Amino acid sequence: MNKVTIKRCLDNLSSSKNIVYPVNVSEIKEVVEYCNLNTYSFYPVSSGNNWGYGSSFPSDEKTQIVMNLSKMPDVIKFDADEGLLTFGPGLTQGKLYDFLHTNSYAYMVPVTGAGPEANIMGNALERGFGITPIHDHVESVHSLKVVLPDGSIYESTFSQLGLSNLDKHHKWGVGANFDYIFFQSNFGVVYEMTIKLERTPDKIMMFTLSVSEDARAACLLQLKEIKETYKNFISGINLMNTRRMLAMKSNYLLEEQGYCPEDRIKVLKKTHKLEDWTIIGAIYGPKGIRSTIKKEIKKALKGIGTKKRFISSNNIILNNSKLGKLFIDSEDLKKINEAFSILKGKPSRYPLNLIYSRSNIPDENKKHNPLKDNIAIIWFAPVIPYKVSIIKTYVEGIYNIFKEFDMEPMITLTIQNENVIASTIPILFEKTEPKEVDNAHTLYRTLLDFCLQIGIYPYRIPTVFQNEYVDKLNWEDTITYKLKAKLDPNNILAPNRYSK
Ligand SMILES: Cc1cc2nc3c(=O)[nH]c(=O)nc-3n(C[C@H](O)[C@H](O)[C@H](O)COP(=O)(O)OP(=O)(O)OC[C@H]3O[C@@H](n4cnc5c(N)ncnc54)[C@H](O)[C@@H]3O)c2cc1C
Repeated sequence: MNKVTIKRCLDNLSSSKNIVYPVNVSEIKEVVEYCNLNTYSFYPVSSGNNWGYGSSFPSDEKTQIVMNLSKMPDVIKFDADEGLLTFGPGLTQGKLYDFLHTNSYAYMVPVTGAGPEANIMGNALERGFGITPIHDHVESVHSLKVVLPDGSIYESTFSQLGLSNLDKHHKWGVGANFDYIFFQSNFGVVYEMTIKLERTPDKIMMFTLSVSEDARAACLLQLKEIKETYKNFISGINLMNTRRMLAMKSNYLLEEQGYCPEDRIKVLKKTHKLEDWTIIGAIYGPKGIRSTIKKEIKKALKGIGTKKRFISSNNIILNNSKLGKLFIDSEDLKKINEAFSILKGKPSRYPLNLIYSRSNIPDENKKHNPLKDNIAIIWFAPVIPYKVSIIKTYVEGIYNIFKEFDMEPMITLTIQNENVIASTIPILFEKTEPKEVDNAHTLYRTLLDFCLQIGIYPYRIPTVFQNEYVDKLNWEDTITYKLKAKLDPNNILAPNRYSK
């Protein structure tokens, strides 16, 4: 979109959906200037695929303009010696994979479960996480460039001294650091970011095991120690309950619809050879480290769980052989291959299958996009102190509340580090049924209240529920309020996004 098109678009604002697609910084500034002059507000998104957290819908329904930055630059510069990637909002996981692959750069895309169309910058700005070694995506951010609501530019501190190269190498700069005020906030339009990528390992060892409800606490305690000792040599470790595993495997909820009764789950568990919890993780690092960690995990989990498997990515050839097929069926093999490519940083649509657990869309017609497939999803995503007693209270409470709302608790617990477990639960419902919408929204609010009571809270909140969080604060005492009033006196930029 050129200057003339932006202007025409802004001149013709209709009442509902006005989307502008700036292609460079001066067009972003033009929209900012226009909004300040006319007291219009706008909502910037990079790809706008923030599924389960509001997609590209503005956090304030009165916002007139969505600024879609997907036509801005993608890769701007890549320092292949150091793995430092400078890029714009146009970069999706898929585009980054193609760039690295085409140029034979052995670096990993920081993949999430949201597939190739999800955005690298948008996900980092929402503080998203994945499972490759730098799974906390904010952690990898080194520097930023931002258009502020008054049209001026913010750059990380070394850049202000003319040392933008140094900024890309050193995360904190010198003096007060303001980079992180632009995450989960509404203080600016980020148009450039530098992140650190991790090299693709030659080999990865994946481990899986099954654990009963009774053994979960013992297993978590052992894994906590392992994670604390081996840190980033181990991926985020996922524990998924039966219902979550079933959702990844099939559309079992098509028949059940609401909360699936325990006796039915028992049958499905048998059919799909599942335990109460399935655990999946990966070991990265050189051969010696991989085999040490494997030994340590085996020792730590002696007597805990069943179906323990350690599969090395180079053994996938063996698994493909006749001998391998004796142990692993071809469907499992396909999934193992897919899991390895995700763990090696290749984005995949496979995790998006989760959204189809209540749907009868045939595989060949799936668009792997909840909006295009008309599937409503809300993510409930609390972070939990790594204490088995709190995790027990959380899981029991979740089951009780979901049962009360006749909804299916498809729980994942991700061990992020020795201090924190992040849980994600999708709430799937029919958006054309007002009763279902109301039920899903009341369920989310009930979950928030319950979690607050037991000392946990989401790390990220869907736009429609952000006021639940803000209303709990003494808003005018917050630094967010004070900064917003100074930086954006006309409140043009994403009003209500994690704020009032
Ligand atoms: C099945 C499924 C699996 C998922 N798995 C994961 C997962 O593993 N991890 C995860 O984190 N999420 C996951 N998600 C949630 C979500 O889809 C992803 O986080 C996705 O990356 C967010 O959308 P996006 O990348 O297009 O970002 P965007 O929608 O472009 O950005 C997100 C928000 O950030 C702000 N923003 C974006 N760009 C800018 C900018 N340039 N300047 C200022 N503000 C900006 C906006 O407020 C925007 O709404 C999943 C969703 C589904 C349905």
